[in-house]
Amino acid sequence: MNPFYPKVAERAGKICEYCRAPEIASNFSFEVEHIIPRSHGSETKLENLALACRSCNIFKSNCLNGIDDEGRETRTLFHPRQDIWQRHFRVNFETLEIESLTEIGRGTINRLRLNNPLQIRARQQWQRLGLFP
Ligand SMILES: [Zn+2]
Repeated sequence: MNPFYPKVAERAGKICEYCRAPEIASNFSFEVEHIIPRSHGSETKLENLALACRSCNIFKSNCLNGIDDEGRETRTLFHPRQDIWQRHFRVNFETLEIESLTEIGRGTINRLRLNNPLQIRARQQWQRLGLFP
């Protein structure tokens, strides 16, 4: 296990800091990811680490920027240590989609595919269990 996992998971409340997936509904621990990827010269320290579900971590990969609705690179992705989730996103309680409130939100939703059908299907189950949002 990643030695930073206990502190990062506790700080995040054991939910993905990007899509708000509840770790308790997963059969494997969420991942400690580098907000600014190591490939961009960042360090492994708590201020640069976030808890991410497998889906968000895979689609985020080593990207720094979001993508707009036409596939063009946008501003930086949502930064869990510097940005407040509710200022960039909100949950649509009918569709269970995550909606953007800002360009950063939109770019992150597209890059991390926060509303792909598998995410929506999982959210329906988490909502049924009282785990989302
Ligand atoms: Zn996620």
